Amino acid sequence: MSKNSHTLDERYQIISKVTIIGAIVNLVLAVFKIIIGYIGHSHALIVDGIHSFSDLLSDGLVVLAAKKGNQSPDDDHPYGHARIETAFAAVLGGVLIAVGVGIVIDALDRLTSGNIVTPESMTIWVALLSVLSKEALYRYTLIYANQLNSPILKANAWHHRSDAISSIVVLVGIAGSMSGIPYLDAAAAVIVSMMIAKIGWEIAKESIEELVDKGLDPKKVKSISHHISEIPGVSQMHMLRTRQMGAEALLDVHIEVSPQLSVSEGHRISDEVSAQLTRSFPDIAQVLVHIDPENDESHSSCSHLPLRNKILQDLEKNWGKIKYARFIEDVTLHYLDGKVSVQIIMPLSVLAGNTEAESLAEQFNASTETLDYIDGLELLYR
Ligand SMILES: [Zn+2]
Ligand SMILES: [Zn+2]
Ligand SMILES: [Zn+2]
Repeated sequence: MSKNSHTLDERYQIISKVTIIGAIVNLVLAVFKIIIGYIGHSHALIVDGIHSFSDLLSDGLVVLAAKKGNQSPDDDHPYGHARIETAFAAVLGGVLIAVGVGIVIDALDRLTSGNIVTPESMTIWVALLSVLSKEALYRYTLIYANQLNSPILKANAWHHRSDAISSIVVLVGIAGSMSGIPYLDAAAAVIVSMMIAKIGWEIAKESIEELVDKGLDPKKVKSISHHISEIPGVSQMHMLRTRQMGAEALLDVHIEVSPQLSVSEGHRISDEVSAQLTRSFPDIAQVLVHIDPENDESHSSCSHLPLRNKILQDLEKNWGKIKYARFIEDVTLHYLDGKVSVQIIMPLSVLAGNTEAESLAEQFNASTETLDYIDGLELLYR
């Protein structure tokens, strides 16, 4: 189940609403910039308008990714579809890099072409409108990106800001041309486009890191591991592994518990670890706990030992001579430190006759002597 306060469907609804509002603004801006740029003789504004049209494409990509990425888990995708959103965010990061490079090329082109047509002043107003509406879109989108912890919405928010900045470049360029310094916009364009490419690089890098299962921030991992070690019943822990999946973090860990605990108590402790972690860290959605009776980080000491049915076969062969063996009620096996120690439960009534507990224990212990994987046998009465 998703730990986020929004269901997957709500996430999709919000992301697509925010993105469609952005797309409408992009469409209006694109039409405005191209028409006014054409009438007002601003090459930069026309290019910016074409850019706004291409933004519609990436808006469409965001809605598509949100739709695909916020489906519930199914047979094909048992972990859910969150990483589809991440993959699209990586692509959008790449688009931003391309946009940055594109603006540089365009700026250099204008620098060398010596285009001296002076734009009309109305183009300045359209560029200003573009800056303001794009900055507003950036802020609006980022609010929801943070609320949903959505990588794709975050990528799109930064795209809006990069558009605002590139419109500033157009604004400066137009103002520069009108006041007789045409190289001003080219110089500004190069700086700004490098900033855009850098943001694109960061988004792409972050997304790709998630796709290759990079662990969470080391500080956070440290605080998670501290939290686990504080939980009663957990004596040690190892192999804490974390990774991000869309808005959620996944985690698996080995915890060491007292080796004599029952399976059900060990299970209870592992449930407690999951419950406490998902409660204390809102983004942690899934915790997989492996229970260890001893540290098996470097190697598992007991993996060569036989299973219960083989051990009982071996033991019963040797118990033929012990007449009380038929009263055995239960056998508990402890696999520790490369050996098996055996606990046998006998009814108290066995001792009611003239059997001596001590000699019985000796007989049973002698029965394990030929079995070198057994390390001690204990008789308990109840
Ligand atoms: Zn754009
Ligand atoms: Zn283990
Ligand atoms: Zn382990």
